[in-house]
Amino acid sequence: SDPIHVVGGGLAGSEAAWQIAEAGLPVVLHEMRPLRGTDAHQTQDLAELVCSNSFRSDDAQLNAVGLLHQEMRRLGSLIMRCGDGNQVPAGGALAVDREGFSRAVTAALEAHPNVTIVREEIDGLPPAAWDSVILATGPLTAPGLAEGIRGLTGAESLAFFDAIAPIVHRDSIDMGKAWFQSRYDKVGPGGTGADYINCPLDREQYAAFIAALIEGEKTSFKEWEASTPYFDGCLPIEVMAERGPETLRHGPMKPFGLTNPHNPTVKAYAIVQLRQDNALGTLYNMVGFQTKLRHAEQVRVFRTIPGLENAEFARLGGLHRNTYLDSPRLLDATLRLRAAPRLRFAGQITGCEGYVESAAIGLMAGRFAAAERQGRTLEPLPITTALGALIGHITGGHVSAEDAGTPRSFQPMNVNFGLFPPLDRAPKAPDGKRLRGPEKAQAKKRAMTDRAREDLGAWLGEAPAPLPAEAAE
Ligand code: FAD
Repeated sequence: SDPIHVVGGGLAGSEAAWQIAEAGLPVVLHEMRPLRGTDAHQTQDLAELVCSNSFRSDDAQLNAVGLLHQEMRRLGSLIMRCGDGNQVPAGGALAVDREGFSRAVTAALEAHPNVTIVREEIDGLPPAAWDSVILATGPLTAPGLAEGIRGLTGAESLAFFDAIAPIVHRDSIDMGKAWFQSRYDKVGPGGTGADYINCPLDREQYAAFIAALIEGEKTSFKEWEASTPYFDGCLPIEVMAERGPETLRHGPMKPFGLTNPHNPTVKAYAIVQLRQDNALGTLYNMVGFQTKLRHAEQVRVFRTIPGLENAEFARLGGLHRNTYLDSPRLLDATLRLRAAPRLRFAGQITGCEGYVESAAIGLMAGRFAAAERQGRTLEPLPITTALGALIGHITGGHVSAEDAGTPRSFQPMNVNFGLFPPLDRAPKAPDGKRLRGPEKAQAKKRAMTDRAREDLGAWLGEAPAPLPAEAAE
């Protein structure tokens, strides 16, 4: 049969090509390096790691990315196999020998009888004769192809992304200080008039906060990043703060139309609003708080906001050039572009973030494309698994039907427990007592990852995992 074409031999494209080849189908992988480079890649190897050499935590019990590793291994991931085979010591993290890893991926693909690797740039949209294509060209997609994609999706859809705001786990916000209310109790489509979480600051707290923003250590820019202009109306908060002490209070921190039920007679001097970020309501983003403060500084400075003293961040703000799609609006449940279903997307361009997540979406895109070619339907992945939760974030779990037309902030994200549906029941201690604090948080994570393992097993058609030996005795 005609081959499936994969454009981009990065983390996602390499994994997608491998999955297709392993399904017994011919695949052509098109990679532009070394003929044309990017601003970040340095070699001609496939699956090059452009920055750190870490796949992050390998703890499949207590960490969402560790769980994702485990799920990918169960699905025969090439990226995980080569990562495991090139491990360097890094505590509980899976870090790899950068060169050894990329060479192993390249060698495995070169040796596979179903894989053809072509070193060429796809300049503009892929030829119309290719009936099944996976575009996995990453955050640094070459301009000609980016232009072609923009022609299909509309100028707004391929975001040239500059700054992102932090996202907080809802259950780490102190609702004894914060409260739910929309400005002027406005009821929007699908809303209740109490859609936002509000955190109040008095005059002194506000002044200290502004000073901390201005003094806070910022990330330095690579030269090529410095020339990227800011999005209009999306300035980093520290840049706004530098324009004058009252600027933020007249911008994202304005206190109008809100009444603090914990202290109704005192008007807040400034207010930080957080907006629901996922359909489950487990994550909230800090409205207008895009920032290039260093990560540790963000945690320190944002925890001075009343109500956020113990905030846990699902992702911190950041500023770098990035190309990604407004996927919940543009892609269907099997990662196909609604406007041109012969094109599938995979990797960071779909709005996931990180090496492992990019490879994970590549893995699923490869499986979807192979199943389609073979006339099989793949059951949707359970949203309780790390893979399913990540796909849900990308393809619409994030945006409810009512919100589909509204300019919500779809932002690239690492896999995290906030993307999983909450547990039906809170886990209890062995003696039946209620758990508290860190013990409770750990038990919740264990219960979520156990549920994921079981549900992935059912999806794979495996028998449920046997009980651990000590529990069976
Ligand atoms: P990539 O791995 O970038 O692969 C895309 C491939 O497509 C490239 O090989 C490119 O040459 C090729 N390509 C592009 N256009 C064309 C075309 N038209 N024709 C043919 N080939 C083409 N994530 C982390 O987890 N840790 C980090 O430390 C980290 N640091 C990052 C630093 C930077 C500067 C950037 C931009 C991103 C970073 N990321 C990091 C985010 C992300 O995980 C990586 O970008 C990851 O490589 C994305 O995987 P991908 O497969 O989607 O894209």
